Amino acid sequence: MNAVCEICGEATDGRYLCERDAIALAARLAQLPALDDELIMHLAPARAGFGELVTSRTAGPRSPINESVFDELQNSRAGEVVRSWRVDVQRVRWPQHSPPPPAGLAADCRWLGMELEWIAAEYPAAGDLAREVRSLESELRSLVGDPVPRRQRLGLCVASTDGEGGACGAVISRLPGETRLVCRWCRCVYEAKDFLMLGHFQPKESA
Ligand SMILES: [Zn+2]
Ligand SMILES: [Zn+2]
Repeated sequence: MNAVCEICGEATDGRYLCERDAIALAARLAQLPALDDELIMHLAPARAGFGELVTSRTAGPRSPINESVFDELQNSRAGEVVRSWRVDVQRVRWPQHSPPPPAGLAADCRWLGMELEWIAAEYPAAGDLAREVRSLESELRSLVGDPVPRRQRLGLCVASTDGEGGACGAVISRLPGETRLVCRWCRCVYEAKDFLMLGHFQPKESA
């Protein structure tokens, strides 16, 4: 029995992951196979296509392929990591079943995605699973040159929480394109039209 989310510490009513972190995990599981597929297209080094003439400046021993991408593909680390989580989730949930046969990264991601409701509510290692999938995602993204979008800090939450004008003060940030934000502490909602207002009402020291 868990009182708070393993990832963000928000109260969860006995679940291991809050709804937002469960949704984030589902989105990452859905993206991993496509990111992994994309790797194959990045085997050629970023700034030198196959067949590029070797000039005197770049001459010298150089691998014709991107080594880190090649390593990842060779070892299929993403596939192995996701596989081991699938095996463990199944072992915990259905101890009487024999381990699932090899199915590939896409199938394993899909399977975990379908079990996510149970994972978030009942699987004690859900936090570790979510963290490992998150780092796999950023690892793959850095290999394909598509970094995880950074959150933009809008300011501190200005909602009054004590009825006496004291402000909540939690950091409010957004991803590019996000138009609706919910404060993690007080759950107050900011729509796109409020973002500018938020900047105006910041306490002096953080301005
Ligand atoms: Zn959470
Ligand atoms: Zn707040």
